[in-house]
Amino acid sequence: MSILKTRGLKKYYGSEPNIVRALDGVELDIEEGEFAAIVGTSGSGKSTLLHMLGGLDNPTEGTIIVAGKDISEMDEEKLTVFRRRQIGFIFQNYNLVPMLNVYENIVLPLELDGKKKDQLYLQKIITMLGLEEKLKNMPNQLSGGQQQRVAIARALATKPSIILADEPTGNLDSRTSQDVLGLLKVTSSKLKQTIVMITHNEEIAQLADRRIRIEDGKIVEGRWR
Ligand code: ADP
Ligand code: ADP
Repeated sequence: MSILKTRGLKKYYGSEPNIVRALDGVELDIEEGEFAAIVGTSGSGKSTLLHMLGGLDNPTEGTIIVAGKDISEMDEEKLTVFRRRQIGFIFQNYNLVPMLNVYENIVLPLELDGKKKDQLYLQKIITMLGLEEKLKNMPNQLSGGQQQRVAIARALATKPSIILADEPTGNLDSRTSQDVLGLLKVTSSKLKQTIVMITHNEEIAQLADRRIRIEDGKIVEGRWR
């Protein structure tokens, strides 16, 4: 079953004669449990696509179905709830809260949503990501790779329909990138967690189960599995 589906997805910025067709008819199907990389050069439309999929912005045209719901015409209020319930975000710069320790960062989305903490599940992801010894540390006491592992745990904590990762290894050296991405892959595979990652890095994209290539706002490769 598709957990994510787009049809005729367009996002234009500005207006004629200076219109930018950032997304120009994107058709995409992502299966439940898949780890997909959307790869493309700078300016190809990756960030715009990720923003649409995560309900951070409305498309100009087309539909986006996430877990059976059409999000393309939701208003800001509905999108906020949608993001909190259905999406886990992983960013290039980790976005941890500096005043909270590792454990507090991981459970923050659960607290904000008033959700019960499944301690067994939390323990499982903390162990899988090798963070048991770091729970009391503050983010500034961690290396970049460790901070990104915390961000991965935080994204997994709410059991979202999809995790969207925006250049997750963009600030890490090559060796650490491979390690962190390897962990993301193993963990998500064990938990059957769907991941959509954007990256301009071909080596990193190779680590995903599937590559979807975008050029000038169009999918040019990997639309079908
Ligand atoms: P990528 O993430 O692959 O680098 P983007 O999605 O950021 O690509 O950008 C795709 C195109 O849309 C680029 O030409 C970019 O300059 C343009 N673009 C992105 N966001 C905006 C915006 N808010 N306003 C105007 N143009 C934008
Ligand atoms: P990333 O590094 O994730 O690809 P970008 O640097 O492309 O991000 O874009 C950062 C932010 O700036 C995004 O919100 C994007 O929509 C916006 N943006 C990108 N290109 C333009 C542009 N030409 N004009 C206005 N905003 C833009």
